[in-house]
Amino acid sequence: MTDTKEGDTGRLVEFLQDRDTPCPLCGYNLRNLTDDVCPECSQNLCLTIGVHNVRFGWFLATVTPSLFSGIAAVLILIFILAALVTGAGLAPPVILILALFGFASGVVALVLIIRRHRFIQLRPRVQRIWAIMAFGIHATLLLGLFLLVLAAL
Ligand SMILES: [Zn+2]
Repeated sequence: MTDTKEGDTGRLVEFLQDRDTPCPLCGYNLRNLTDDVCPECSQNLCLTIGVHNVRFGWFLATVTPSLFSGIAAVLILIFILAALVTGAGLAPPVILILALFGFASGVVALVLIIRRHRFIQLRPRVQRIWAIMAFGIHATLLLGLFLLVLAAL
């Protein structure tokens, strides 16, 4: 096996032999190219392996509750600040704790989005467990909040 540039160029030239393939940069037809440089735009070319239809389902299911919590925390913060400015006083501790949880969850969402490639590399079974945990934690908290509101009425 050769991992040299010459070997890579040879495989590229072999791939493009008798095959209509547009340059990814300028669209020039690279059919029967004899070097690893596009004759039209002079860009160096390489042969790579890509992935079709990456499955983001479990990632979206995991990140959505956290993202929603982060956005809700920002809205709650606006109400907390409005109450302070208007002289209504500090929000009850349960609201402050809720806002804190929302911010922490929002940070988790941002970390997940930044490191999404590592999440996608996990086995689907592990991704599913993360999604179920994220949904379970947020649904439980939402249900608890709903019960608190009902009890306060
Ligand atoms: Zn080109």
